[in-house]
Amino acid sequence: MPDVFDYMCAWAAGEYDAFSKLIEESVKENREIGLNICQSLDGNFQFGPKCSGAECSVTLPKDCGTISKVGTFHTHTEDPSVDHTKFSGADILESVLSDEKLSCLGYKKDGVNHVSCITFNVPELEGQSKDELITHLKSLSFYSKQMDINMDKADGLERQINHWLKLPKEKVEPLLPRIRESMRELDRLRAKAKVDLGMEERVKNRLLAFMKEKGYVKECNG
Ligand SMILES: [Zn+2]
Repeated sequence: MPDVFDYMCAWAAGEYDAFSKLIEESVKENREIGLNICQSLDGNFQFGPKCSGAECSVTLPKDCGTISKVGTFHTHTEDPSVDHTKFSGADILESVLSDEKLSCLGYKKDGVNHVSCITFNVPELEGQSKDELITHLKSLSFYSKQMDINMDKADGLERQINHWLKLPKEKVEPLLPRIRESMRELDRLRAKAKVDLGMEERVKNRLLAFMKEKGYVKECNG
């Protein structure tokens, strides 16, 4: 009986062409694409329906309908502010919280399509291990949310500024002090989001290191 980790990694490796097609599509449309990985009653894995998201996120259905969900695949498009070749903190958080067994990420780098997968095998935890896992998850969730809030605020403010700047000249002039103040605020928010992103990355890596050490996660090909 092969190791459950190895079995899922081997399955994912066998689906490279299918994943690769989705990566191509995602790059072409410049938005994330994802799908659930489901397990039918006979034990075979299959893809759930394809979902398209925004430029930097995609939300997948909670389950696979009448069959069970074992994991997810999603793509990342290139983004100057983050490393698109890595699972985000929110990705890892979601995978652990929704008890996924296999999470795969697809992306294009230097013209080549890559698929990297992680398998999860978290037992029913109790005691210190459980407390430790919860602590990691809570802080990851905190920074992840914090970053989203500041990003959303910044995006809203940027839209507002752009709106003001498009107004006729006589209307823009009296608004200039407000626009300048808003631009400074925008810089502050972007800087904050950057710090949060750094924290989220650190907390994510700590969680992954903890889970690796305990044998709860394993990277395919690594
Ligand atoms: Zn992601």
